[in-house]
Amino acid sequence: MMVTLTQESATSFERFSIVNAATLEAVGCGCKAYVDWFTYKRWAAQHMQVKRGEHGTRITTYVQTTRKDRDGVDRPSGSFPRTTVVFCRHQVEPYVMNRDHTDEGETDEPAA
Ligand SMILES: [Zn+2]
Repeated sequence: MMVTLTQESATSFERFSIVNAATLEAVGCGCKAYVDWFTYKRWAAQHMQVKRGEHGTRITTYVQTTRKDRDGVDRPSGSFPRTTVVFCRHQVEPYVMNRDHTDEGETDEPAA
């Protein structure tokens, strides 16, 4: 399931978890769940990048599964947990093109 995130979809959520909201608010920096906390990909869709050396906070999200019924309509059939790492607003900065970085194994330029 590949979904391309737009700036808008990156900040919208189908479901909210009270447990995750409590976990993130317990971090204590004042950031609000679903407003100031996003995954790396969701931040990237908002043209933000995680600062070097920042560590994300792990939360568990539940992925809804569906099954087609007799009429071929997708119906919820269950869910399974998945661990996701999120970063708060304090841990990101506006994305800079050609940033001088040496992150492990990801470089756009061929080695000189
Ligand atoms: Zn924060």
